[in-house]
Amino acid sequence: MKTIELNEKIECRGSYDVIVAGGGVAGCAAALSAVRSGKSALIIEKSQIFGGLATLGLINFFVPMCNGRGKQIIYGMAEEFLRLSIKYGYDTIPEIWKNGDPSDYPENGPRYITRYSADIFALALTEQLHTEGVDIMFDSVVSMPVMNGCHCDGLIIENKSGREYYEGKIIIDTTGDADVLYRAGVPTVQRGNFYTYIAKLITIDSCRKAAESGNIRDAMAGIAGGGSSLYGKGHPQGMPLFTGTTSEDVNNYLITNQLHMLSKLKQTDRFSRNVVTLPGMCQYRTTRRIDGDYVLREADVYRHFDDSVGAINDFDRRDYLYEIPYGTLICSKYDNLLTAGRSAAGEGYAWDVLRVIPPAIISGQAAGLAAAQAIDEACGVGAIDIRKLQASLEAGNVDIHFDDADIPEKDRRSAD
Ligand SMILES: Cc1cc2nc3c(=O)[nH]c(=O)nc-3n(C[C@H](O)[C@H](O)[C@H](O)COP(=O)(O)OP(=O)(O)OC[C@H]3O[C@@H](n4cnc5c(N)ncnc54)[C@H](O)[C@@H]3O)c2cc1C
Repeated sequence: MKTIELNEKIECRGSYDVIVAGGGVAGCAAALSAVRSGKSALIIEKSQIFGGLATLGLINFFVPMCNGRGKQIIYGMAEEFLRLSIKYGYDTIPEIWKNGDPSDYPENGPRYITRYSADIFALALTEQLHTEGVDIMFDSVVSMPVMNGCHCDGLIIENKSGREYYEGKIIIDTTGDADVLYRAGVPTVQRGNFYTYIAKLITIDSCRKAAESGNIRDAMAGIAGGGSSLYGKGHPQGMPLFTGTTSEDVNNYLITNQLHMLSKLKQTDRFSRNVVTLPGMCQYRTTRRIDGDYVLREADVYRHFDDSVGAINDFDRRDYLYEIPYGTLICSKYDNLLTAGRSAAGEGYAWDVLRVIPPAIISGQAAGLAAAQAIDEACGVGAIDIRKLQASLEAGNVDIHFDDADIPEKDRRSAD
C-alpha cells in the first residue's frame, strides 16, 4: 500500500480541564456536569447541532424512566433533559406523569415517557450549554488523541480553520463509537447493526389531521429505507450486519438505505407528501464500546454495585432494574480517559438498557463529575473516591441504588 509521511507542527489553540468529544446527549450531560463542578470544559461536535442520535439521528423518544408500576427510577440530568426536550415544543408525557410520581397508578398504566421535537431539543441544548459556560465547538471532528503512554495530553481536531490541537486534563469520549478511546489504544469491542434508516415525512393527510387536532405533532409521520426493528425483524435475508467502524461500511449503509428510501418515495404521489428531515447521522445502535473495568450483563439485573452511578430501568419490560457501575465508564489503566453513553461497557440486552437516552444521560452526568473529581483529587479516573462521586450525583438528584422493595417477589430470592 502506498503511504505518505507527515511531519507537521500543529498549533495548540487552548487548554481545558475537561474536553468532551461528541455532543450527543451523553456528551452534553458530561460537559454540563463538568462546568457545574467549577471546571472549564470544551465540547467538540462534528455536526452543527447537539443531541446526536436523539436529535440529528431523529430518535425523538425518551424511553420509560419508571419501573412500570408507577415509580420513577431514573432522575438526575435524564429528567432535566426530558423536561428540556419539551420546554419549547410539544410533548406526549402521559397525563398521570405530568407532575412526577403518580399517586394512584393503575395496573399496567402508561409509563413515564415523552416524544419531543428533535430540532427544538437541539436548540434548547445549545442554549443550555452556552448559558452555563461550556465552550462549544461545532463543525469540528476529533481526529486523534495525543498519547503519552496511557495518558492523553490532548486532542487533534479538524475544522474549517484546518488542524488544531487542544490540551485537556481529562478527556471524555462520547462519540458514541468510542473513536477516541479506540485510537488511544483502549480495548474495545464491536458489534453489528440491523438495516434501519428512518426519516420524517409529512403528507397532506397528516397535515389535515394536525389541523383538526390543533397539534403539530400529528403532522409528523415516518418513512424508512431499511426498517428493521431493535431485534432485527425486517433485516433482509443474507444482508451482512453493518459495523459502522469503517468508511466503506458507513457509505454502503448510507447509499443502500437512501436509494431504498427513494424507491419507496417514487411509488407515491409527489404532490401529496414531503420528506422534512433525513437523518443527519447513521442510525447505528452499536458500533464500538469499551471493554471497561466492568462489563454490564443481563445477569446483573437486580444486582447492586458498590460503585453504582445510578439506578436505571428496562425500557421494554416492566420491573427489570439495573444499576450502572462506574467501572463501565473507564479502563483504569488509562488514567485520564472516560466514556459515557452508548460506548459504555455492556453486553447483550443489558447494553441495550444501558445505551438508550435516559441512561446515556446519567452516565454522561457521572463522567463529567468523575472528571472534575479526578482533577480535584489529583488522581487517575480509576482512583477517585467513589462515595464522594455518589454524593455529588445524589446532590444532582440521581438515585444511586434501586429499592429492593421494587424487586418482584419471584425474583427476590435469585437477587439475594
Ligand atoms: C434506530 C435507533 C432507534 C433508537 N430508538 C431509541 C428510542 O426510541 N429511545 C431511546 O431512548 N433511545 C433510542 N435509541 C438509542 C439512543 O438514541 C442512543 O443510544 C443515544 O441517543 C446515544 O447517545 P450518545 O450521546 O451516547 O451517542 P450519540 O447520540 O451517538 O452521540 C455521539 C455524538 O458524537 C458526535 N461525534 C462522533 N464522532 C465524532 C468525532 N470524531 N468528533 C466530534 N464529534 C463526533 C456525533 O456527531 C454525535 O453528535 C435508538 C437508536 C437507534 C440507532
